Amino acid sequence: MSQIVLSGIRATSRLQLGNFLGAVINFVKFQQPGNTCMYFIADLHSLTTMESPEEIRGNLTEIVKDYIAAGLDPEQSIIYAQSSIPEISELCLYLSMIQQVGELERIPTFKEKIKKNPDNVNLGLLTYPVLMAADILGPKATLVPVGEDQVPNVELARSLARKFNNRFGETFILPEMMTEMIRVPGLDGKKMSKSDADNAIELSMTIPVIRERYLKFGVTDIERKLRSDPGDPYKRCQSVYPVHELVTVGEIEIRAIANACLKAEIGCVECKHQLVDNIAKVLEPFQAARVEIVDKNDFVREVLHEGGKKARALIIETVKEVREKIGIVIY
Ligand code: AMP
Repeated sequence: MSQIVLSGIRATSRLQLGNFLGAVINFVKFQQPGNTCMYFIADLHSLTTMESPEEIRGNLTEIVKDYIAAGLDPEQSIIYAQSSIPEISELCLYLSMIQQVGELERIPTFKEKIKKNPDNVNLGLLTYPVLMAADILGPKATLVPVGEDQVPNVELARSLARKFNNRFGETFILPEMMTEMIRVPGLDGKKMSKSDADNAIELSMTIPVIRERYLKFGVTDIERKLRSDPGDPYKRCQSVYPVHELVTVGEIEIRAIANACLKAEIGCVECKHQLVDNIAKVLEPFQAARVEIVDKNDFVREVLHEGGKKARALIIETVKEVREKIGIVIY
């Protein structure tokens, strides 16, 4: 079945391994003949933390380079900046009229964000999932590849689509998620996050730096005090074995690592070395491709310009339909 695949990444700092394994790898997987793939950079969403304008602009173009280095082909996928399509913000406003505030306040990512930064609980943080719903529903996406943390936000987009359709007649498609979504732990075992520089492995880090970070900071099984103590890779290892499950190729290899840990045949240091060797296999082709386009800023601008035009043409059609159904006339 052909799909309209849509996903995005905020323009806050540079991409990390969680973005790569949880999102970008899947973007490339769905780039297939027959699918319409729309991958954007969520620069408006980045404004909830109001980084410097230079940073937002810089991150935006760097993420486009990451997309291309990872294997997205601008001839096959529509790559665009969210802000290039003003109708997304317009649709967000319309959707906000059928969205109850209480439901937004209960979303886990909102709760986490206000806990992290209680001095900046801005309205944009609360309406973040409604803007995301506009991103998704605008081009009538059928499939949204995201990491596990985004499930409540996609659920909200589905619920908004359902509410709108019930009230105004069939308009939006209910987007599906992938059957398996992942959460990549950072070095401290919490979700790897761009906003937490200490726990993240950035895609631009060299393999020796990644190795040093895992060796120094990677939290394993804290109950395993001695090399001769058996470890528990499944429940207690925080940051190493769970990533092996995501990057180490082959069920037999993964089970061998887990069994060696369970029988104390392998220590955490050796296990970390093996992990970084396997991360290198995933990252090295990406990093080599990234070097090729590092200076191609004109090309990136062209990709964004062309992608913006294509995405806007699709989204405008939906917004026109919505305006008509809710009674808004542009004179
Ligand atoms: P963000 O950086 O919050 O804009 O996230 C962009 C995409 O990367 C979303 O689909 C997230 O679910 C995904 N993502 C970010 N961090 C992780 C992680 N640690 N594990 C899995 N997916 C992630």
